[in-house]
Amino acid sequence: MLSYLNDHSLFSRTFEKSPIGMALVLSNGRIVKANPALCTMIGYTESEFIDLRLSSKVHPEDSGAALISWHQLIQGEMDGYQIQLRYLHKSGSIVWGLLNVTAERNLHEGYGDDLFIVQIVDITEQKKKEEEFKKIEELHKLISEHSQDVILRLTPDGMISYCSPAIRNQLGYEPDELIGKYAYEYWHPEDLNGGWLRKSNTDPSDSRIHVYRIRHKSGHYIWQEAHSKKIRNAAGEIQHVISMGRDITERIQSEELIRRSEKLSLVGELAAGIAHEIRNPLTSLRGFMQLYMKEDLNGSKKLRNDVMLSEIDRINEIVSELLVLAKPSNEVSALRDMVQTLNQVTRLFEGQANLYNVQIIKEFDANLPFIQCQISINQVFINIVKNAIESMPNGGELIVQAKQMKNHLYIRIQDTGYGIPQEEMAKIGNPFFTTKETGTGLGLMVSMRIIQNHKGTMRIDSEVGKGTMVEIILPID
Ligand code: ADP
Ligand code: MG
Repeated sequence: MLSYLNDHSLFSRTFEKSPIGMALVLSNGRIVKANPALCTMIGYTESEFIDLRLSSKVHPEDSGAALISWHQLIQGEMDGYQIQLRYLHKSGSIVWGLLNVTAERNLHEGYGDDLFIVQIVDITEQKKKEEEFKKIEELHKLISEHSQDVILRLTPDGMISYCSPAIRNQLGYEPDELIGKYAYEYWHPEDLNGGWLRKSNTDPSDSRIHVYRIRHKSGHYIWQEAHSKKIRNAAGEIQHVISMGRDITERIQSEELIRRSEKLSLVGELAAGIAHEIRNPLTSLRGFMQLYMKEDLNGSKKLRNDVMLSEIDRINEIVSELLVLAKPSNEVSALRDMVQTLNQVTRLFEGQANLYNVQIIKEFDANLPFIQCQISINQVFINIVKNAIESMPNGGELIVQAKQMKNHLYIRIQDTGYGIPQEEMAKIGNPFFTTKETGTGLGLMVSMRIIQNHKGTMRIDSEVGKGTMVEIILPID
């Protein structure tokens, strides 16, 4: 027996009591001694192990790698190695082991020259955890890389440490551009007061849903709904914050549209009622005014009277615009040629266009179908063309187009005028919103209302200094 394996040696006691699986192996690979920890680990008794090759218990897929190292060791190319291997437990299950082999050379004790000390640490649990973690990590990657929502990881003070690729479609940035930046630098200044992120250390709630505007790379803002959650470590400290942001611009816009159309119908009803009431006294006032002017034979009060008459006419103009609101309900609808209508409207403005040096260009597709509509549709084109010409006091081009796409008629009225600033865009179409000295602020509201009654849509696109495009889409049926 090997001297250092006698029952009283320190090595022998360590060998027996070690929680790490241990074996002594000869250069032919056969086991001379196995400790209890190894027996438990692989599921064999020590007597079953003796004279067995430990390599026979290695998982076939790992035996190649195991043999290469073993051969290098017994040929003296190295004095030890460490390798992770799977072993087959007697029960058939797989045991992951961290194998450590060291050589004791030239012992000359009758068992051959060299002896090898094998130590195996059971790392099955660790491996399982690693694998689970890897799976979770892959899943997370899959979700965040493919989600339509933008997923962000932020430090507790709001610095972006991860950003998912959805940011490209949603906000036009590359994920890398945002790493290291503070999220709230991209928020609309009016939406900053929430400040949940910046005071996240003191705020007691750990998750919340927040709606705010966020800046697109090209400068405009989109509406985002973000679900944010603070992630805490075992000590309760925030490690980071995870946030998922969804583009809800369209939702907000359609909500706005509904609100506006509700407001419109209310204002419309009210306005139409008032207009009827005003019109009658106004007609008699105007009649008497004209009589009164005829009686002023030497014209001493002419200036005053002219002002009064033009003021009455202005009131009349407002009232007629308001009255259009009441008409659609009882007006008959008929099939009408929109090309003819547009020609009539542009002819109406030829004089004014000449005066302002505005060139009218018409582009109508051939054979456009007629549209089932009320005569009030004329008013829409009049209002829009009027606005367009008024936006070009120093001349320009007015382009009127009509074309069919599937079962819709598209009418576009485009000018090269001063355009509408973005902050005013939201107010366009609100009753009485005007930027003109003598404007009524009713033209577009009335037009939208009429188009709505025809189940059509109206859209305004504008850029300051470049011009405005109004697009009307009407159903053909
Ligand atoms: P009004 O013309 O009486 O002001 P509207 O309802 O027709 O009322 O238009 C409201 C406002 O919308 C205008 O005062 C103007 O500021 C803006 N607007 C409408 N159309 C145009 C356009 N083509 N170009 C520039 N601004 C426009
Ligand atoms: Mg107008």
